Amino acid sequence: MSLYLPHFNLQNYNTLASPVCAEFFVSVKDEVELMAALKFAKENNLPLLFLGGGSNIVLHDDFPGLAIHIQFMGKELVREDLEHVYIKAAAGENWSDFVDYCLDEQFWGLENLSLIPGNIGAAPIQNIGAYGVELKDVFSELTALEIKSGLSITFTPEACQFGYRDSVFKNALKDQFIITSVTFKLTKSPSLKIHYPALRDALTNVSADKITPELVSQIVCDIRRSKLPDPKTIPNVGSFFKNPIVSTATLSAIQQSFPNVVAYPIDDNSVKLAAGWLIDKAGWKGFRQGAAVHEQQALVLTNPYRLSGSAVLEVAELIKASVLSTFGVELEQEPRSYP
Ligand SMILES: Cc1cc2nc3c(=O)[nH]c(=O)nc-3n(C[C@H](O)[C@H](O)[C@H](O)COP(=O)(O)OP(=O)(O)OC[C@H]3O[C@@H](n4cnc5c(N)ncnc54)[C@H](O)[C@@H]3O)c2cc1C
Repeated sequence: MSLYLPHFNLQNYNTLASPVCAEFFVSVKDEVELMAALKFAKENNLPLLFLGGGSNIVLHDDFPGLAIHIQFMGKELVREDLEHVYIKAAAGENWSDFVDYCLDEQFWGLENLSLIPGNIGAAPIQNIGAYGVELKDVFSELTALEIKSGLSITFTPEACQFGYRDSVFKNALKDQFIITSVTFKLTKSPSLKIHYPALRDALTNVSADKITPELVSQIVCDIRRSKLPDPKTIPNVGSFFKNPIVSTATLSAIQQSFPNVVAYPIDDNSVKLAAGWLIDKAGWKGFRQGAAVHEQQALVLTNPYRLSGSAVLEVAELIKASVLSTFGVELEQEPRSYP
């Protein structure tokens, strides 16, 4: 039987280390416990907060409801064909450990996504991505429990409507499903994706026959460790803003005053701007006022004094206003704020 803990401090359950409390907290390890928790919430009229690793949320105040920590564990090879293996992982498995497990088993495709914090269940919600690969590239299907009906439903890639840091679970189906497992389609022989500039640069002096998935994973880990603060020592949620997608006309206008603006082509009419570059150029790197802007990467806001998430949101608002007035570009927050 699960324990419903009242007035529970969530500081250890979010990587910004915000010391806010949930009215109730429960850990669930299977669907039976999850259904019981949903019933408890319904009977007590409590709003719901689902927690994985807490690495993509901003808790700016106490949560007046039930926080449910999804702890479903387990992984299995569900089928294979000549070229692929299909590995199913439960929602509570740690993402980075899962990537390492697949590397050890020689199931390839996740190497560029090494060391991303958080758990399996949250990964499809924002279609996590890094170093030229997104979850959608290795995704087969997921199962999710519908809160209203209690039914378990399978989602194909099409049904998930993946986009850049986006999926149906952030839009039409927001707050309607709890992801319980994700199945990945991985390859039996390596198919490396090393076109991303930082990765390509790191591999310039390595001969092609020496480039292995393990090496790619190692380089991704090294780059990440050099650029991103470890949330255990400096609380953060990684990139605080999405890279904005703007029209080529907007890009040309920005280039009039900032010829070096960093932009990646999307299609004939649009480009993705590097949000970190915009924030840096607007003069925010190293800023500190309760929360701080990370010295090595201006896209990362940190919470060194372990304050409530509202301190981070205050700095985020200052940055958004400044980037808008400097470049005419609106930044969109990546982590979700609660309550
Ligand atoms: C240092 C650092 C680096 C990062 N780098 C990257 C990166 O390179 N690329 C990237 O894409 N992201 C990155 N992130 C963001 C984060 O790691 C990912 O978004 C991750 O998938 C969040 O997982 P989580 O378990 O911590 O989610 P949580 O923060 O616990 O939850 C995120 C959202 O998903 C919901 N949720 C969680 N589990 C479930 C579930 N089972 N069913 C339904 N809803 C659920 C929550 O309610 C919340 O709305 C980084 C974060 C940090 C701290």
